[in-house]
Amino acid sequence: MLMQIRGVRKSFGDHEVLRDVNMALDRGDVITILGPSGSGKTTFLRCLNFLEQADGGTMELAGDKINLASASKKEIASVRKKTAFVFQNYNLFANKTALENVTLGLTAGRGMDKAKAEAIGRKALEKVGLLERAGYYPAQLSGGQQQRVGIARALALNPEVLLFDEPTSALDPELTGEILSVIKTLASEKMTMVVVTHEMAFARDTSSHIIFMDGGVIVEQGSPKDVIDSPKEARTKAFLARFNA
Ligand code: ADP
Ligand code: MG
Repeated sequence: MLMQIRGVRKSFGDHEVLRDVNMALDRGDVITILGPSGSGKTTFLRCLNFLEQADGGTMELAGDKINLASASKKEIASVRKKTAFVFQNYNLFANKTALENVTLGLTAGRGMDKAKAEAIGRKALEKVGLLERAGYYPAQLSGGQQQRVGIARALALNPEVLLFDEPTSALDPELTGEILSVIKTLASEKMTMVVVTHEMAFARDTSSHIIFMDGGVIVEQGSPKDVIDSPKEARTKAFLARFNA
């Protein structure tokens, strides 16, 4: 198992947002997380990358086991070396070019020298089909192109696991396809990924495993066929019915 997550708990004040969430990932797996708004999907992903600190739970990642609630700085740095996050709203720096956005995590974050970081950054931009836009600022790019920069930035970190939080939900429908096709290419190359999305066709075609969350717990999980085509739980059925209308 590349990554094993056990017993993740998180509250904001007295609002319990995650209650005992578990997940196991093998190398090359694509796990899709489905669930209604407010079910805790973003919080769960953020806890995996220490963008948010869980109140309880453990993570085993590539052989190292850590406590998510009491990880040391060194352990957090080690997890951040092995995971990378793609944000719903891209989170690009407006005053930096595409290439600078992609290399910043390598230079400022990891102390890599600029020339080496730029070589890696250009490769990552090429991978998402944006090498010729390396010198453009976010405002000069479409939403789909900005999100591809966001993916390139994550790829440049050479993570073991890529975490996507609704990568297409800020995009106009006609731009969604270009992002999904980048993710599908990564899946075909056996990149290990956890993807929160509402794109059901993508979830069915590309996932190795689907998790349905509601109210901070995993309600149901299994193969795409099991969860999407023959859900067992009433909450899963009610959620999916909205997409089949
Ligand atoms: P999802 O991504 O499934 O829509 P979230 O993880 O964003 O769900 O949110 C789960 C719940 O936690 C929601 O009720 C949300 O309002 C709450 N929440 C998320 N982040 C915070 C925060 N930083 N402070 C307080 N409440 C939060
Ligand atoms: Mg969310």
